[in-house]
This record gives sequence, C-alpha cells and structure tokens, in this order.
Amino acid sequence: MTKFAKTRSNGGSRLRPVWLRRGDIAAACAVLVTALLTAFFLWFGQAPASQVSVQYPDGHKEYISLNRVQTIEISGNNGIDLLIEIDNGRARVRESSCPDQVCVHSGWLSRSGQTAACVPAGVCVQILGGEPAVDGVTA
Ligand SMILES: [Zn+2]
Repeated sequence: MTKFAKTRSNGGSRLRPVWLRRGDIAAACAVLVTALLTAFFLWFGQAPASQVSVQYPDGHKEYISLNRVQTIEISGNNGIDLLIEIDNGRARVRESSCPDQVCVHSGWLSRSGQTAACVPAGVCVQILGGEPAVDGVTA
C-alpha cells in the first residue's frame, strides 16, 4: 500500500491515491477504459442469443436454434421427464418431474450464458449467443 500517501495537515486525515495527484490524464484514461470495457461487455451481453444447447443425461449435447417455437421432451436420469420449451429467442424448462423444481424455477432464459440445470435428471439447458452452429447438429 505504498501508493497511498497521507495528507499531512490540510484536509484532515483522508488518504488519497497518489495517481490522482499525478494528473487528471491518468484518471481520465482509467475512466475511459472502464467505460469502454463496460460498453463492450454490455454489448456482447445483450447480443441476441441465437442458440440453445441442451445437454442430455448421457452427456451428448444438442444445439438448437432459438428462432423457432418448439417443445422438446427429454427422459432424464432417475425417471425424471422434462419438457423444454423454445419460443422465439428464449427457452426454459417448462415442466419437470424432478423433486426440487430448480430447473423450472429458473424461468425463461434469453441471454447468452444463462443456464437452467436439472441436476437430478442430468439435463442442462444453456443459451448460446452470437456465433452460429458449426457442426449443425440441429434437430
Ligand atoms: Zn429439475
């Protein structure tokens, strides 16, 4: 913490970072970079999701376009049946016979990275953004 210098007398006992006094340019740059990074992540965070990946209990994944209306029935582990619903840019676990219902309570997923997992069933639904399907394993 040697970057902090104590102000001697004027201004009381506040601590000030040294870089603030070295010039406003450094501070302005830091603010600018932070703003740009924030905009960058917001931009990609809000990029329209294009696909949903559905992971089955056996580990295999299916990539399905979100730009459709479709329901998918999955027979999960422990005799749990799930109903995945895709509705024009969003997806959810509509129904599940799992005991905890965590997956159902995840609700609609529409942003890249959002996930609904049904642990007891071994099923995971995740929204993927941006890039289109590479190997085209769409249903
Ligand atoms: Zn569940």
